[in-house]
Amino acid sequence: MTTNPYAWLEDSLSTIHKANWYRSVQRLQNRPGAVVKLEGQEVINFASNDYLGLAGDERLIEAAIIATQHYGTGSTGSRLLSGHRELHQELECAIASLKQTEDALVFSSGYLANIGAIAALVGKRDLILADQYNHSSLKNGAILSGATVINYIHRDMEDLKHQLVYHRHNYRRCLIATDSVFSMDGDLCPLPDILSLADQFSSMVLVDEAHATGVLGATGAGCVEHFGCTEHPLIQMGTLSKALGSLGGYIAGSATLIDFLRNRAPSWIYTTGLSPADTAAALTAVEIVQKEPQRRDRLWQNVEMLKSLIQQSLSALNILPSESPILCLQCPNVEDVLNMAQQLKAAGIFAPAIRPPTVPTSRIRISVMAIHEPTHLQLLVTSLLRGLV
Ligand SMILES: *Cc1c(COP(=O)(O)O)cnc(C)c1O
Repeated sequence: MTTNPYAWLEDSLSTIHKANWYRSVQRLQNRPGAVVKLEGQEVINFASNDYLGLAGDERLIEAAIIATQHYGTGSTGSRLLSGHRELHQELECAIASLKQTEDALVFSSGYLANIGAIAALVGKRDLILADQYNHSSLKNGAILSGATVINYIHRDMEDLKHQLVYHRHNYRRCLIATDSVFSMDGDLCPLPDILSLADQFSSMVLVDEAHATGVLGATGAGCVEHFGCTEHPLIQMGTLSKALGSLGGYIAGSATLIDFLRNRAPSWIYTTGLSPADTAAALTAVEIVQKEPQRRDRLWQNVEMLKSLIQQSLSALNILPSESPILCLQCPNVEDVLNMAQQLKAAGIFAPAIRPPTVPTSRIRISVMAIHEPTHLQLLVTSLLRGLV
């Protein structure tokens, strides 16, 4: 008799349940916005990456409809075969203009952008130095590349330097990879220090601007602009799916870099081009980011207001240090954070529990949007305080 080769799946799931790590989806039933219908209940939405409130914007919707009518639903092939449209080029120009780089390349998701770029840039003879809290796509891109991967302590420049001193000379190329806004913490990487170490040790830098694009910097270009590092040679990655309200990802940088990736990034070459609807929506979003700085101003006013409401709560709320619209309330353990998320939901607040293995310690993750009203923020803080007692 043979044993069922799939039986281990049930065992594995029950282990996940026992650890309280089990996850499932929740249905959102209307357009994205500050207030959404979640499993039949109206809730104030603090769970969205739609920082500027563009995912439900009429102009993006209209652009997607027009592009679909003109080009159809699918792009029908990879970009190098039948999948390239004028819209893709327009979007890549617009991203390069926003990021103040020579060129940009659009991937079908941010995850694919990171995986493809890293695998193209480094290989077996090379070294990747990575912040320990990097996004899953940077981590898996690093593994896929076959390079030696060494994590450095989160934002710790002494440790990064130490690793460079001890290991850099054993490898051909070196790539330092980091989130710019850390997605599950809300703090920023010390970009100027990273760049100066990279220069000293002849290393490339890839910075993941997923949560910074459209959010940080005077013109919304991201963390690189925020830190005044726009002129520095750099590999910038970002997504079209967060503040830009669409789907897809990008790499921005020198014309040579982009030309190289078009020839060497497997997750760009061997996948279907971004759909006309997503491309057109993202293009409209980039234009809005550039033309309507008031949206970014509103976002940061909301962030400041929420931070000051939290401070007025006499610091009863244990918030992780943040320099972004992502604020995390620390919770002692998995049970507490799940209870807290449930209580918040009962009070009409949608703010997810983030727990291991995604992060080392449990937390409620709050994302502020430009379209939140002051009353939404007030209700959030009172509900958080009530959840603590
Ligand atoms: C969301 C995210 C990505 C992936 O982007 P998608 O377009 O959603 O695939 C990559 N890096 C970071 C830091 C992210 O938060």
